[in-house]
Amino acid sequence: MTSDIEVNDAVKRLGTETAFEVLARAEALAAEGKNIINLGIGQPDFKTPEHVVEAAQKALRDGAHGYTPAAGIPALRQSVANDLQVRHQVAVDPSNVLITPGAKPIMYFAISILGEPGTEIMYPNPGFPIYESMIRYTGATPVPIELKEDAGFTFDADTVLSQVNENTRLIIINSPANPTGGVVPQDTFDKLVAGLEQYPKAVILSDEIYSRILYDGEKHVSLLQYESIRDRLIVIDGWSKTYAMTGWRLGYGIWPSTLFEYAEKLAVNSYSCPNAASQHAGIAALEGPQDQVGQMLDAFDERRKAVVEGLNAISGITCVEPKGAFYAFPNVQETGFDTRDLQQRLLEETGVALVSGTSFGALGEGYLRVSYANSLENVNEAVSRIKEFLS
Ligand code: PLP
Repeated sequence: MTSDIEVNDAVKRLGTETAFEVLARAEALAAEGKNIINLGIGQPDFKTPEHVVEAAQKALRDGAHGYTPAAGIPALRQSVANDLQVRHQVAVDPSNVLITPGAKPIMYFAISILGEPGTEIMYPNPGFPIYESMIRYTGATPVPIELKEDAGFTFDADTVLSQVNENTRLIIINSPANPTGGVVPQDTFDKLVAGLEQYPKAVILSDEIYSRILYDGEKHVSLLQYESIRDRLIVIDGWSKTYAMTGWRLGYGIWPSTLFEYAEKLAVNSYSCPNAASQHAGIAALEGPQDQVGQMLDAFDERRKAVVEGLNAISGITCVEPKGAFYAFPNVQETGFDTRDLQQRLLEETGVALVSGTSFGALGEGYLRVSYANSLENVNEAVSRIKEFLS
């Protein structure tokens, strides 16, 4: 159908998150009775801890069903500050904490506040697709930070610094990373932060949504620990991955005071406030028992080992060991398949849903993203289906 309606050019430049399209197709196939193993979408397969669910139910019964302050209820903002103090030994003022419906609005806000034509924004590639999508939306120039397989999908600080210039408004970092599972080592951060002293106008957006999903006893390095950049650092974290709460839509950003007011205004202009019951659940999650977080991590670790071993045993596939998050990013170049075709054929012909690396940027060509947030049994079955398909 043709239409006379005209829209602005910016929305035409928006990209998307293919994982949601794969999820919809996988669910449609499952509804037709096909046996589908979903390694496409990035969400824990566990239930939200019971005490968290109860806190939301209680909040609703007690009358917490109205609007809240746009930035979130004070008790939750305080609770986030306390949690960051305990986990990263940093002092965060609750007035710098913006609670949002999921963590995604923080990147939307940060990129919209800083991006415009004539400016540059650096972002990880392959990386979470919304970064590049939003950069293009604002008209800023996207400058990829190349994440290389042979470097464990991390970046070289000197290379990044050589690309920073007077037009660089924002540098986006994501560790542990989606879609690669890469974790940036502390000495790389040390070098990057030291080099950035030369560019005081460049804001840093550190997406730390997987901060509690690290393996082999590795400790998360938060950019909040670097005092010298605190006045130009935005940090993303939240509940979705850590507490299996993706559908509750609850996340947060730590903002420098100079930018907070713009982010808060964007919140008021778009959604008014985050969901009230979810915010009470968020307090229970942060302040209640943490044992389920550890149990989920142990389960992810077991699956991580199985998926890496299983994929490496398939001719034509090599898979580096992810150090964090719940994704593996195998190199499938030797199979000779175009990864978009492979994504589609694996889903339609074997019932295994996963996402082509190209959905995470041009540098994802030749890779697949495998989300192992599924049972060990399903992960193993998916690997054997892939093996059988390729042979
Ligand atoms: N940042 C990264 C790197 C992610 O992978 C995701 C979700 O997949 C998000 C942010 C968004 O999290 P939320 O569901 O809380 O909006």
